[in-house]
Amino acid sequence: MSKNLIILGSGAAGCTAAIYAARAGIATTIIRGNQPGGQLTITTEVENYPGFAEAIQGPWLMEQMEAQAKHCGAAIVSDHITEANLTARTLTGQSGETYTFDALIIATGASAKWLGIPSEQTFNGKGVSACATCDGAFYRNQHVAVVGGGNSAMEEALYLANICETVTIIHRRDDFRGEMVLRDKVKNHPKITIIWNSTVDEILGDTESFMGGVTGLRLKSTTDGSTQEIPVTGVFIAIGHKPNTDIFTGQLDMDETGYLTLIKGTVTPTHHAQPLPGIFAAGDVADSVYRQAVTAAGMGCMAALDCNRYLESI
Ligand code: FAD
Ligand code: NAP
Repeated sequence: MSKNLIILGSGAAGCTAAIYAARAGIATTIIRGNQPGGQLTITTEVENYPGFAEAIQGPWLMEQMEAQAKHCGAAIVSDHITEANLTARTLTGQSGETYTFDALIIATGASAKWLGIPSEQTFNGKGVSACATCDGAFYRNQHVAVVGGGNSAMEEALYLANICETVTIIHRRDDFRGEMVLRDKVKNHPKITIIWNSTVDEILGDTESFMGGVTGLRLKSTTDGSTQEIPVTGVFIAIGHKPNTDIFTGQLDMDETGYLTLIKGTVTPTHHAQPLPGIFAAGDVADSVYRQAVTAAGMGCMAALDCNRYLESI
């Protein structure tokens, strides 16, 4: 009987790992998770994935990657893993199904971070969002804000500027973290205003009426603590991502922000110096630095090749 591999996640890392593993003859199953296709499905244009002279759409790219994995022989399961017992080599899905594996590639990526202020929860879905491509159309011709200073915040702002009346970017420092080409586009866009050195102190709105929603933001200066209010009907939080590693807490080594730490591609179990045999990780879940589709895909390839060597050795 052939040894089986489970790949957790259907983003760039998971799909690429599946392509390589299935082509190597390994019985490969991708468990897609609750975001099939991963983070690139919540963006529009992708200009930096090699092989395409013109910009392509993120959701289309991910459809193609999954179709390619399937074409190579990988099985695709729609489930989300809620419990992992790595010693027993079992996974339990939201569906109630239990999965066993000889080898596992963890490619669970990362999810949007939130500010953590109570009003963010109060107005979630009623003016607060973490995905402009999903929710931007609700704010056509309105005034909106984007919080953050990385590539995501700038892309969100540029996307919203095509739909909304004005876009205000709120950033806690006086310089963007994102790449130069996006910085220039944002700074020169006539509909985009930047408020530097500020954080969101409170999201203001109407909680009384049934149709209530966001009406403005109270901002706090990070330099002198002063506050100001701006009127907006929507606020898009784009302050980075948190690795999806909660189900491995206490089982695998992680850095202080929850990213899996790797030794030559293999995850390391908590309190052990040696890698856990047959368990690999790839993509954003194990990469706090590069976090690109192409690097995730590259890590997926590496994990599958390592996995193949491992399965041949047992
Ligand atoms: P992800 O894409 O995060 O996929 C993770 C997968 O794991 C998902 O399928 C999810 O359903 C699954 N999963 C999670 N938890 C579980 C679980 N418990 N059980 C089962 N499955 C699970 N990069 C670029 O190179 N170019 C760009 O233009 C670009 N634009 C971006 C725009 C936005 C708005 C964002 C947010 C990111 C962008 N990135 C871009 C970054 C890029 O999307 C990521 O680097 C890439 O998606 C990482 O791929 P991944 O496979 O590691 O993880
Ligand atoms: P990021 O690069 O980590 O940037 C997060 C931004 O949010 C930073 O500017 C940070 O401020 C700010 N921030 C963090 N916590 C905050 C808080 N509590 N309150 C206010 N502001 C806060 O995250 P990202 O922009 O989502 O990008 C993630 C990765 O995906 C990156 O590697 C990026 O290159 C990649 N990506 C690439 C593209 C592309 O290639 N076109 C597009 C999108 C994303 P500081 O700067 O002060 O830390």
